[in-house]
Amino acid sequence: MKILVINCGSSSVKYKLFDVADGDGAAVPHTPAAGVLERVGGDAVLHHTAGEATDDRRVDAPDHRAAIGAVLDALVHGDGAVLDRLDTIDGVGHRVVHGGEDVTDASVADDALREIIRRNASLAPLHNPPNLDGIDAAREALPEACHVAVFDTAFLTTLPPKAYRYAVPERWYREHHVRKYGFHGTSHRYVTLRTAELLSKPVAETNLITCHLGNGCSMTAVAGGKAVDHSMGMTPLDGLVMGTRSGTLDPAVVLYMLSRGLDREAVGRALNAESGLLALSGRSNDMRDLLAARDDGDERAALAVEAFIYRVVKYVGAYHLALRSVDAVVLTGGIGENSIPARRGIVDGLAPLGAVLDADRNASLAGSAGAITTAASSLSVWVVPTDEEFMIARDTARFVSGRQRENR
Ligand code: AMP
Repeated sequence: MKILVINCGSSSVKYKLFDVADGDGAAVPHTPAAGVLERVGGDAVLHHTAGEATDDRRVDAPDHRAAIGAVLDALVHGDGAVLDRLDTIDGVGHRVVHGGEDVTDASVADDALREIIRRNASLAPLHNPPNLDGIDAAREALPEACHVAVFDTAFLTTLPPKAYRYAVPERWYREHHVRKYGFHGTSHRYVTLRTAELLSKPVAETNLITCHLGNGCSMTAVAGGKAVDHSMGMTPLDGLVMGTRSGTLDPAVVLYMLSRGLDREAVGRALNAESGLLALSGRSNDMRDLLAARDDGDERAALAVEAFIYRVVKYVGAYHLALRSVDAVVLTGGIGENSIPARRGIVDGLAPLGAVLDADRNASLAGSAGAITTAASSLSVWVVPTDEEFMIARDTARFVSGRQRENR
């Protein structure tokens, strides 16, 4: 079964073609081709890889429809071609950021779902419209394929009201839908399923604190395989210190800065694109640069790293109490999967909860899964690489199998 996963951003289209051996996604698929088309609407360039072959080409992509056309073309023509015909694609999995309160699972991207995505666009104005463009373009180009939308918010729809409601006037919630939604749900779900597998426990009996630490960062408290609390909020700005996002701050800071003469746009830009590690360090949003600068004696870089780790540790403390018992703290994302010093800092910060670092395992794990705490540690910390595209492919395969069974 061939499944194409598409992640359509405002000016880019990322994609990965999966060959899922088993309809239920039980077998690990190999990935014959993947790539990214950048600068949709401008000087568009497609970077396409298929096995050893790479195909970088300038393409004419004034809009998402043309961009999807160029991606499909690369799959059947040129150096990286892996398909004889486009109609061999059985399913297309679309990453969609915001399903609001309406969508609790992956769903067939039909007209009704399209309307739900459109309705929730006010909550994700930068993401849902291009996601929708991608769905429209792919449905038009591949009318026979089964199109499935997989939502970033879906895994987090199990949060209880005490976790998702803000203590603000009721009508803000009723009329304006102001509440915590949470994001990175596909990643948190993937590492939850994978960690339960690694721990040889039924997922319904597994309690985890999953930490997606990349350029964007979020944490989820998972009880019995279901999300019960989460660090991002109504938008992805809340919670942890991120690459360029502030994370949690006193909301009155926004009012204060507006009163100091900044307009709404400038405050929004500052909190989303000029804050986080970049602001604290004054030099970079990349953890690698900051660790190197810290080791060279840069005090602002040291503060940025310290504040990042402190915020993660603080959330683990809170979620540990919420869960009562924790099978593992799970680190994933670019920093969680790769940064030996950041992981060391987090485990050291969790020493009061009984975490003891296994320095050799921490140093040896890159791109693979395993515990980085000792066997004697009463709190286990694991590194588990995430794979959102695989999760989307697996969800899509589920629907394709269902359709194939119906047609039999
Ligand atoms: P992501 O958003 O998950 O792709 O993560 C991107 C971030 O991961 C980068 O901005 C870096 O801060 C971080 N990162 C990636 N590789 C490393 C590494 N080897 N050491 C430290 N940080 C890393």
